Amino acid sequence: MSPEEFRRWGKQVVDWIADYRAGIESFPVRSRVAPGEVRAKLPERPPERGEGFDAVLRDLDEILLPGVTHWQHPGFFAYFPSNATGPSILGDLLSSGLGVQGMVWATSPACTELETVVLDWLVELLGLPPHFRTDAAGGGVIQDSASSAALVACLAALQRTGEDVARRGITRRHTLYVSAHTHSSLERAARLAGIGADNVRVVDTDPDTLGMDAGHLDELIAADLASGAVPTMVCATIGTTSTTAIDPVREIGEVCRERGVWLHVDAAYAGVAAVCPELRWINDGVAEFADSYCTNPHKWLLTNFDCSALWLADRAPMIEALSILPEYLRNAASESGEVIDYRDWQVPLGRRFRSLKLWSVLRWYGAEGLREHIRGTVALAQEFAGWVRDDPDFALLEPHPLALVCFWPRYPDLPVEEANARTHRVLDALNDSGDLFLTHTKIDGRTLLRLAVGSPATERRHVEAAWDQIRRAV
Ligand SMILES: *Cc1c(COP(=O)(O)O)cnc(C)c1O
Repeated sequence: MSPEEFRRWGKQVVDWIADYRAGIESFPVRSRVAPGEVRAKLPERPPERGEGFDAVLRDLDEILLPGVTHWQHPGFFAYFPSNATGPSILGDLLSSGLGVQGMVWATSPACTELETVVLDWLVELLGLPPHFRTDAAGGGVIQDSASSAALVACLAALQRTGEDVARRGITRRHTLYVSAHTHSSLERAARLAGIGADNVRVVDTDPDTLGMDAGHLDELIAADLASGAVPTMVCATIGTTSTTAIDPVREIGEVCRERGVWLHVDAAYAGVAAVCPELRWINDGVAEFADSYCTNPHKWLLTNFDCSALWLADRAPMIEALSILPEYLRNAASESGEVIDYRDWQVPLGRRFRSLKLWSVLRWYGAEGLREHIRGTVALAQEFAGWVRDDPDFALLEPHPLALVCFWPRYPDLPVEEANARTHRVLDALNDSGDLFLTHTKIDGRTLLRLAVGSPATERRHVEAAWDQIRRAV
């Protein structure tokens, strides 16, 4: 593809994206295709001869688009949002255009240095502690996902217990602590790090707040110590995936400090809310106690997937665990010790120029624009929660401090199993309508509907229409 051909098709692709986004409400939010339907329409064999890009765009429209769930649709209330905004898409396009592989500083200095600056900016924007900054002992790095962030934190935690993760591997039995509401990626991290799922302890939660019980955590750690294990990492969650419950980080942190256990804080969804000073209470205890902290701009902070920010209070154990220097990557800059090589801060070697999209977002919106987005979505969710609370046919899960509302239709005459089945039928009918997409969770045996407001395209009228439809569906 010559530069002139690229220019021509590139303009068409940008027009395609702009048209798609402008007309997104005309699509059913959740794809309606059956399993295998998309695949059956695609040729079995790759083309022998090259085709025009018009053929690619035609198949995108005709074959792929029906199999797409429209995450940017204003009626998308499922899971958590995965914002993809104009500036982030353009920033990502620029990253693709540069085609840089930033594994070490020397392979593209700007790729490393912009990432350092942008993550230091985020420390300030989110009111995180200054020791997370790269000019202190800590530092931030962009990971592909919160799952990778958890694995990196886990490897650093193992290293800090005195294991020589890089050379000897694990020599003792280690334990990791979560609650029943912790994200499954922590168990994954334990498996991948060689700790093993059987050494993941599930700490009790408070029945009202669903937050981790720090007293029970301390008991479990004491029992593990008595049995000769090495308590290695606790994961506290700020905003669980299921209900946005918040673990008491300060109390958990005190236990971790006392026991010398690494505290990882998973704020994948909720952490970015701290861009608003009035929501910074969610991070209480992080500054004093967190050894690592993760939040995903790719969920609620207007930056397209993938962009997960991980900070460490002290980067040394992570680098000891992960640094590697094959001959073919030796270079004067790395050996000078004056530069950061982010390949030592993550599992893969290679890395994209991801900071470009985050930088584009921060510059386009400014702190004010980011706050407006968080406040706007929180306000819509709170208004929705108010409607649910006032309707005798529904029950509302409290608290709901952010932009996720969990609720359920009351079927007072039905046993819980039947009520759950009915709730599922309501959910299916709503999602089949194509106008909105909700997901569910289960708390204490009861199926709850989850409505997460998060798209910048979602206006009050969309939330109102959703409520109207939900009320009529039960
Ligand atoms: C979404 C989520 C994750 C996983 O995030 P990925 O970036 O998709 O790996 C982890 N923890 C919590 C609390 C989440 O909400």
